[in-house]
Amino acid sequence: MKAFFIAFLIIFSDINKMKTYQKEDITVTWESEKCIHSGVCARGLAAVFKPREKPWIQVDNASKEDIVNQVKKCPSGALGIK
Ligand code: SF4
Repeated sequence: MKAFFIAFLIIFSDINKMKTYQKEDITVTWESEKCIHSGVCARGLAAVFKPREKPWIQVDNASKEDIVNQVKKCPSGALGIK
């Protein structure tokens, strides 16, 4: 867990605006300032949410439905769907 948290801090410490990731007819959004680094996304859908890689959200690795369902579980609201 500590390594996960450190990875988030190193990779995203200089990012403070919304990032967007297109998947079919939806856009996954991520706001770094809202992220509490819980790891819920990475544990729940590891094929898509990869905090040690760039881009850290890889929407090609799962279905739209699986991504939407995981985004809904983000405890801070950092992840969203447009
Ligand atoms: S589930 Fe949300 S709050 Fe937790 S690490 Fe992922 S984006 Fe951040």
